[in-house]
Amino acid sequence: MAELQQNYDVLIAGTGVAGLMCALNLPREARILMLTKAAVDESDSFLAQGGICMLRGEDDYQSYFEDTMRAGHYENDEAAVRQMILSSPQIIRELVADGVDFARDEEGNFRFTREGGHSRSRILFHDDVTGKEITGKLLRLARSRSNVKILEYAELVDILLSDGECAGGVVRRTESGELFPVYAAFTLLATGGVGGLYEHSTNFRHLTGDALAIAMKHGVAVEHLNYVQIHPTTFYSEKHGRRFLISESVRGEGAVLLDKEGKRFCNELLPRDIVTGEIRARMRKDGTKHVWLDMRPVGEKTILEHFPTIYARCQREGYDVLKQPIPVVPAQHYFMGGIKVDADAHTSLGRLYAAGETACNGVHGKNRLASNSLLESLVWAKRAALDMSAKLKEVSVKEVPADLSQYEDYGRMKENYAKSIREEAEREDCLD
Ligand SMILES: Cc1cc2nc3c(=O)[nH]c(=O)nc-3n(C[C@H](O)[C@H](O)[C@H](O)COP(=O)(O)OP(=O)(O)OC[C@H]3O[C@@H](n4cnc5c(N)ncnc54)[C@H](O)[C@@H]3O)c2cc1C
Repeated sequence: MAELQQNYDVLIAGTGVAGLMCALNLPREARILMLTKAAVDESDSFLAQGGICMLRGEDDYQSYFEDTMRAGHYENDEAAVRQMILSSPQIIRELVADGVDFARDEEGNFRFTREGGHSRSRILFHDDVTGKEITGKLLRLARSRSNVKILEYAELVDILLSDGECAGGVVRRTESGELFPVYAAFTLLATGGVGGLYEHSTNFRHLTGDALAIAMKHGVAVEHLNYVQIHPTTFYSEKHGRRFLISESVRGEGAVLLDKEGKRFCNELLPRDIVTGEIRARMRKDGTKHVWLDMRPVGEKTILEHFPTIYARCQREGYDVLKQPIPVVPAQHYFMGGIKVDADAHTSLGRLYAAGETACNGVHGKNRLASNSLLESLVWAKRAALDMSAKLKEVSVKEVPADLSQYEDYGRMKENYAKSIREEAEREDCLD
């Protein structure tokens, strides 16, 4: 590890939108280390298809608030929902200033699309690769900053504690297995969701909720580990691996769900959990492994212009969506629970923050409204950065001894981490 210093102002685990947004909002003189367990472009943030919500204007506030609450079964934290919605125009302005390109009409105004659970169109998009557009641009900026070091294939396996506060973390190089401590004044956990723990998921396989397990190991508060969102429509395949998502905005633009007889059986624009329930019920009734999604009502022009990636992927799988329905099935997609944080992304442990899918700030309640997660990740990551920035001058890095031998049996450690997440989720299920 000679080339890598071990002492930073801020350690960030995760290079998705949450990690990047935090890094970019820290002072230019702050020394920042970002870790990612895989390649830097292998985060769920790159996979987001549908888009990112934005408050359309004052007259949209009540409706946006109500849509988010209704989708979340009214278990959402109202103050958190307010904070997210009211921050959205500024976050979008910043993304545009950072070079993010959203779809616009001939006059240059934003074009908005709609997904299930939204009572009006308020989702900005870039074709069907909005996440790649946003995350790619933020990554490019982060790479241009001399104070930000990005370490790929480097996994956070634990945090370090000093005087009851977080003092950094233990890092493992995924290729060599080498272990080393990193000391930091502040640490942000932004390691994404838990899809890698499921057999069928739209998430990258390496997203296994590591930060959650690490947090629980040290008694850091977590909540709602049983609140997992299933996406109603992923491309049905017999192959092993990540499931390809058929974005909800396809249904927002008119695609319909059909059963084995070719008949519609539900309102496609209801919130995700309800549509998922309807699909599963129909699969049980029909004794099938999937239902069908017919994109033809969307129209050829919109399909080719708005959904080119979905069109191309289905072609590769042997389906022409302009001519025929495609087989779809629900799969694990998003995690509403997580490490409990407040309005500024503080966890219950001093100097430790969490943002993005790994955190639970209460915005989503029991079920996320489509296209609220990129926004939520960006809002809380920025607040974490501003909070850290205000305190950086007051705190110093503490170097504490780290016993690295406890991480040497990597397989066993990971099994224990996964087990602790499952057990907590089951316990909360029993309490529900
Ligand atoms: C297919 C798909 C489509 C989606 N579409 C949308 C959409 O249209 N709109 C929307 O708002 N949301 C969408 N989402 C959800 C959204 O993409 C995610 O919630 C959001 O991007 C999460 O960002 P994040 O930064 O928290 O995590 P991620 O982007 O997942 O990044 C996690 C990072 O943590 C790293 N990591 C994990 N474990 C460790 C560890 N132990 N040590 C170091 N690094 C680690 C990973 O390598 C990665 O860099 C979609 C998700 C998927 C899967």
